[in-house]
Amino acid sequence: MIPYGRQNISQADVDAVVDVLSSDFLTQGPQVPAFEKSVTDFCGAEYGVAVNSATSALHIACLALGAGPGDVVWTSPITFVASANCALYCGAEVSFVDIDPATYNMSVARLEEKLRTAAKAGALPKIVIPVHLSGQSCDMAAIRVLADEYGFKIIEDASHAIGGSYRDEPIGNCRYSDITIFSFHPVKIITTAEGGMAMTNSRELARRMELLRAHGVTRDTTEMTHEPDGPWYYQQIDLGFNYRLTDLQAALGLNQMKRLSQFVDRRREIAARYDEMLAGLPLALPWQHHDTRSAFHLYIIRLKADARIADHRTVYERLRMAGIGVNLHYIPVPLQPYFKCLGHDASAYPEAVAYYAQAISIPVYYGLSFDAQDQIVNAIKTALPR
Ligand SMILES: *Cc1c(COP(=O)(O)O)cnc(C)c1O
Repeated sequence: MIPYGRQNISQADVDAVVDVLSSDFLTQGPQVPAFEKSVTDFCGAEYGVAVNSATSALHIACLALGAGPGDVVWTSPITFVASANCALYCGAEVSFVDIDPATYNMSVARLEEKLRTAAKAGALPKIVIPVHLSGQSCDMAAIRVLADEYGFKIIEDASHAIGGSYRDEPIGNCRYSDITIFSFHPVKIITTAEGGMAMTNSRELARRMELLRAHGVTRDTTEMTHEPDGPWYYQQIDLGFNYRLTDLQAALGLNQMKRLSQFVDRRREIAARYDEMLAGLPLALPWQHHDTRSAFHLYIIRLKADARIADHRTVYERLRMAGIGVNLHYIPVPLQPYFKCLGHDASAYPEAVAYYAQAISIPVYYGLSFDAQDQIVNAIKTALPR
């Protein structure tokens, strides 16, 4: 089976991890700050807080921005469940903004409508979490304008998007947002096995997230409520977690960062080749806004609107049978039983529901050969309904 995504590990990556194993620190050593510096330098953000997953990064980002009971957080229905769960972890509620049928990202028009309605009802969101699906940035400038008008905070879920850019600047520089989070799960652009990072330009937010990452414990005397009892002293000043990334993982991430541009260029090359080879078939190919340069974590094809839902399943099954590890990103979050029980109703998000009936993610990753890609394209041509 050709997988839809796969990590690329070099001998240098292996050596970097093995070196840490025989060093003094397996965790809380020098590799984590070095990895953070590498990502902040690349993105042009002031601060990066490395954690053990993007899910943890989303959680502490929401907490740092003050989400709690009585607050509402909005995100896209077409995302991994973690983009919504982070609000629930904080005791906040979550609601969704339907997608744009061209980019599959959160629709700015729907966002604006929903904000107008929410303003009248006194139910404005505390935080909006746009998700850069596939690695293509949302329309961040427009979302920033709405944030200033309606007074919400912005967390960019850039789990798919490290190495991509928006208006010629790297995603992750937080020019339009309070915090941007990345994922380093093996299927994503670079990997630390499990891992994530929260980027920000705010010293205060960075510090709050550092505390939340490590039990809310400080050794900084300026943060303590009184003079230290002695040189051993530390204080817990907040309720934090153990969300730390290990030095083993950070060493892998740091070494992977050297090849980030190479990884993204190759993904973009594969995407351009799909664009050419799949043109003319009854499919919508990933439409790209000229403001964006996608990292192409995913390459999503969409059956044309007249395709019946049965065709969608048939095409999916035929591709799987042909050894192509297709996937579907994502099942609309409000359709998940857990969210249904919370009273969510997917019919409020018709574009997300329509997308779900037509979308298929086909393989794209650094190590995918042109031969394998040709095989995938042929399988798609054979699988499509005639
Ligand atoms: C992968 C992913 C996450 C969660 O990332 P982890 O590092 O696995 O916790 C969150 N949001 C989106 C959009 C993702 O794709």
